[in-house]
Amino acid sequence: ASRFSVVEAGPPIEVFALTKSFTDDPFPNKVNLGVGAYRTDDCVPWVLPVVRKTEQQIANDLSLNHEYLPVLGLDSFTTAATKLLLGQDSKAISEGRATGVQTLSGTGALRVGAEFLARLLKYKTFYYSTPTWENHRLVFMNAGFTEPREYRYWNAAERCIDFDAYVADLKNAPENSVIILQACAHNPTGSDPTPEQWEKIADVMQERKLFPFFDSAYQGFASGDVEKDAFAVRYFEKRGFEFVCAQSFAKNFGLYNERVGNLTMVFNDKEVIAKVKSQVTLVIRGMYSNPPNHGARVVSTILNNPSLYEEWKGCIKTMADRIMSMRKGLRERLEAKGTPGTWEHITKQIGMFSYTGLNLRQVEHMVKEHHIYLLKSGRINMCGLTTKNIDYVANAIHDSITK
Ligand code: PMP
Repeated sequence: ASRFSVVEAGPPIEVFALTKSFTDDPFPNKVNLGVGAYRTDDCVPWVLPVVRKTEQQIANDLSLNHEYLPVLGLDSFTTAATKLLLGQDSKAISEGRATGVQTLSGTGALRVGAEFLARLLKYKTFYYSTPTWENHRLVFMNAGFTEPREYRYWNAAERCIDFDAYVADLKNAPENSVIILQACAHNPTGSDPTPEQWEKIADVMQERKLFPFFDSAYQGFASGDVEKDAFAVRYFEKRGFEFVCAQSFAKNFGLYNERVGNLTMVFNDKEVIAKVKSQVTLVIRGMYSNPPNHGARVVSTILNNPSLYEEWKGCIKTMADRIMSMRKGLRERLEAKGTPGTWEHITKQIGMFSYTGLNLRQVEHMVKEHHIYLLKSGRINMCGLTTKNIDYVANAIHDSITK
């Protein structure tokens, strides 16, 4: 008998299990609306042309090598990433109160930030929205937080943010609770607070002395404009909060498997930075020692070169525009068919995901009868839609609702 016989199987991770079922399905017209990655209109992954070009240039640069990066990563990358988030005119940057640390994509930034807060500030309680990205809870628990709590976010009947409930839950949060706030293009609902709602959220957080932990995984994907999508984070900076933000470059650079991330930290006193960084160094040293170089070098090269930067912004626009045109196309088709229900939420929601409002029975019908794969919550990735399969998907939605 193995000493490992005591180990029980863990629960499957829904989105990976879904992709496996999709891959194993021999049906020719199958559609995967489950994955969280961009697809072109031919339903294939996209290497951004500006990324490909930069990678080729790096490969040909014989002065580069594979030496270890410092524990906190590539300086030119973390500086550029922090500036992308906080903006050219950030006071925190000009006053030397902001800094960045390279991490293993957005997940790594969440983990390093959470572990730092749990260990050094002894924070125990964290709040995430219901619903949220399904990994927030696990990452924070593994990082040492012990009190997971939820704040209400979604009004399923009206298909919009349940703002009163959201604020009421924040008002009841104990001092020093860490509040995970998705910076833009909320996963999975595709619905963000308005600027006025962010103002109110900031009021309550200030009053209740709560700590904002932003999660920015989709900067550029919501509106097609990286400046606009940074609104909430920049607003909190202007309001004088101390906060951290996990930044992912998986989606907006298409660098999913390269694990390019940054943990931006904003303080109200620049004197704390050196000490904080020395402690974050120990967190990372004991976790994975130092980060990989390739993706960070690509992102750094692009963000620090004005003409490559413009090209990159064009790529983001291409992705955001395609998503928006699929939203429009899907809504138009459902409305034209007279599919029961209202469909303006499909175009109102932003970013990669749409919370369709399909219930579990309808989702199962989509999978079983139509070979269209989506999460049980009814979340679909708009990038899974193409001009070739959108009629098929709209017909299936109609069928699943009217059957
Ligand atoms: N936060 C949110 C809300 C996400 O949707 C994702 C990606 N699915 C991440 C963080 C982290 O992604 P990654 O680690 O690939 O950067």
